Amino acid sequence: MNINAKTKMFCLLGNPVKHSFSPNIHNYLFEKYNVNGVYTCFDVEQSNLNKGIEGIKALGISGCNVTIPHKVRVINYLDEVNSNARLIGAVNTIKNEGGVLKGYNTDGVGFVKSILDKGYKLNNKRVMIIGAGGACRSIAVELASNNVLSINIRNRSEEKAKEIANIIQGNFQTRISYSKEAINENDLDDIDILINTTPIGMESNLCPIDESINPPKSLLVCDIVYKPHNTSLLKWAKKHNLEVIHGINMLINQGLHAFSIWTDIKTDDEDVENIKKIYEKINNISFD
Ligand code: NAP
Repeated sequence: MNINAKTKMFCLLGNPVKHSFSPNIHNYLFEKYNVNGVYTCFDVEQSNLNKGIEGIKALGISGCNVTIPHKVRVINYLDEVNSNARLIGAVNTIKNEGGVLKGYNTDGVGFVKSILDKGYKLNNKRVMIIGAGGACRSIAVELASNNVLSINIRNRSEEKAKEIANIIQGNFQTRISYSKEAINENDLDDIDILINTTPIGMESNLCPIDESINPPKSLLVCDIVYKPHNTSLLKWAKKHNLEVIHGINMLINQGLHAFSIWTDIKTDDEDVENIKKIYEKINNISFD
C-alpha cells in the first residue's frame, strides 16, 4: 500500500471497534482494485457521534461504515438516506459526495447476495426468520424488495416482530406474519428458507431450534452468526444433508456492497473466497 497526499480515507465508526474485520475487507479491496484508499477504525462515544459525523465532512473523509451502537441514531446527522435504509431505520454505510453525506444499509443486501451467489432465486420463496432485531429488519426489507412470497418472523417477544411486520405490510407485496411460538416440525413443511438472526449460537453451542426436529429435504438453512463458523443450527442442518449458508458470507458481502457504493467498482466472485482466506488466517481457523 502506497499512502500519499492523494490517499482517500475510509473508516468505521462504532464502539467498540477493535474486533472489527472491516479493515481487512476494505484494505484488501483497495489494493486489488488499485484504489488509492485506506480504511481504519475509530471508537466513538455515543455523546460524540454528531462531532464524529461533522469530522467526516470537515476532514473530507470519503466514506465510512457505522456499527453498534450508532446505526440508528446516525440517521439524524445525514443529509440523505437511501429509501430501504430509511425503512430499516438504520444506516451502516455513509458516502461523502462533495460534502453531502448519503446513508445506506448494506447488511440485508449482503445477506441476499449470499443466497443469490449460491444459485438460489428468491422470487416467490417462503421464508422464516428467527429473531426480530436490527439484522432481521434489514434482511426482511431486502427479502421483500426481492419479492419473496412470505416472511414469518419468530421472536421470543412480539413487539419488535410486529414493528417489522408493519414496515413490510405497508411497503411491499410480501405476506408477513409473526409469532412468539417455538418452531415445530410442521412449521418447516411450509417454508423454503430458514434464517437465524438471533445471537443464539454465538460463541456457544446453543441452538435456536429444537434439534430433534426432522426438516424437509429442500430447506435452505442460513445463520448470520459467524462465530463459530459452524453454529449448532448449521450442524443440525448439515446432519440432515441440507444446504446451508454461513454468517461469514453476509459479513463479507455487506462490505463488498459498501465498497461498490464508495468506488462504483463492481467486485468479482473470487473476492468472497479471497477474503474468507484472510479471515481464516487472522483467526487461525479453517472453514473446511
Ligand atoms: P439485536 O438487534 O440485539 O436483535 C437480537 C434479536 O435476537 C432480538 O429479536 C432478540 O429478541 C433476539 N434474542 C436475543 N437473545 C435471545 C435469546 N437468548 N433467545 C431468544 N431470542 C433472543 O441484534 P442484531 O443486530 O439483530 O444481531 C443479531 C445477531 O446477528 C448478532 O449475533 C450479530 O453478531 C449477528 N449479525 C451478523 C451479521 C453478519 O454480517 N453476519 C450482521 C449483523 C448482525 P427480543 O426482541 O425479544 O429482545
